[in-house]
Amino acid sequence: MNNIFGYTKEMLEEYFFNINQKKFKAIQIYDWLYKKNIYDFKLFSNIKKEVIDNLINDFSVDFIKIEKVLEGKDVKKFLFRLLDGEKIEAVLMKHNYGLSVCVSSQVGCNMGCRFCESGRLKKVRNLETYEIVEQILLIQKYINRRIDSVVLMGIGEPFDNYDNIIKFIKIINDAHGLAIGSRHITVSTCGLVPKIYEFSNLDLQVNLAISLHGATDEVRNKIMPVNKVYSISQLLTAIKDYIAKTNRRVTIEYVMLNMVNDKESDAYSLADILKGLNVYVNLIPYNETKNIEFSKSSKERITNFYNILVSKKINVTIRREFGGNIKAACGQLRSESD
Ligand code: SAH
Repeated sequence: MNNIFGYTKEMLEEYFFNINQKKFKAIQIYDWLYKKNIYDFKLFSNIKKEVIDNLINDFSVDFIKIEKVLEGKDVKKFLFRLLDGEKIEAVLMKHNYGLSVCVSSQVGCNMGCRFCESGRLKKVRNLETYEIVEQILLIQKYINRRIDSVVLMGIGEPFDNYDNIIKFIKIINDAHGLAIGSRHITVSTCGLVPKIYEFSNLDLQVNLAISLHGATDEVRNKIMPVNKVYSISQLLTAIKDYIAKTNRRVTIEYVMLNMVNDKESDAYSLADILKGLNVYVNLIPYNETKNIEFSKSSKERITNFYNILVSKKINVTIRREFGGNIKAACGQLRSESD
């Protein structure tokens, strides 16, 4: 049976149309689910019995489960157990501008970025739309507060689960749904070029972040296998197309790996390839994992790299470090508890 939290409002409108009911019932349903937080169809008092029977027959409202919550300073990590027993994680962060949640989009990940813990378990399956939506619903319920922003930066490659993450975005963005503004939603990809083109045609007005992490094919090939499929120049062409079509600024994520991609020459190459583009670079201090092949760049090396980019007139910030002590930081999320 189909879980109701996987349905965009348009899909519900189509459902009602098909059973000869008025389309606006979709809005009423959304109101119950996302505004009043009532999940028992029988309690939908403005809906006729006959329609409620339809809902009961056609939809489930099953929830994934919070298995464990770890707490750190300004951060909580949630381990979820899915209905088939698989596990994923999401992270809640408190910023001065509000609460944000980092959600997972897959169980495991096939992208194989060498420095990332989340991909050590190969992709088991995509998350269903409802499993992504429910990460937010359950966290909101747990803290009894509304979430202000959402980043698709947990376990998985969102653009490798394209259709479901698009539905997820539509549901949380809908004014009758969770009403999280498009400017407060960010999708991050390691660079699945065809999907970037598809995404730019949707006009969703959400933020796009690209995990670049290398400024030359030589460096990027070593750390991100996806680069052997879509090279940096192909990726940059897609980014330019996205910016031209959407008129939106793109975030470039760059994790600072000691002696791998943090040399002065890397900073100059990065400035070179990004020159004139409407982007801003987010330098991410590497969160160390079990993988001893990589280590964190020193503060001095990061500052030096940062200063070179600034001198080349590239917009750049250094990402605040979060959640390292509870393994809730970028690249530390896992699909298993240990
Ligand atoms: N698959 C998507 C979504 C993951 S976002 C993507 O690649 O964009 C998670 C971000 O954290 C990515 O930029 C990823 O490259 C980065 N990351 C992975 N491991 C990390 C680590 N150990 N320390 C810091 N950042 C890491």
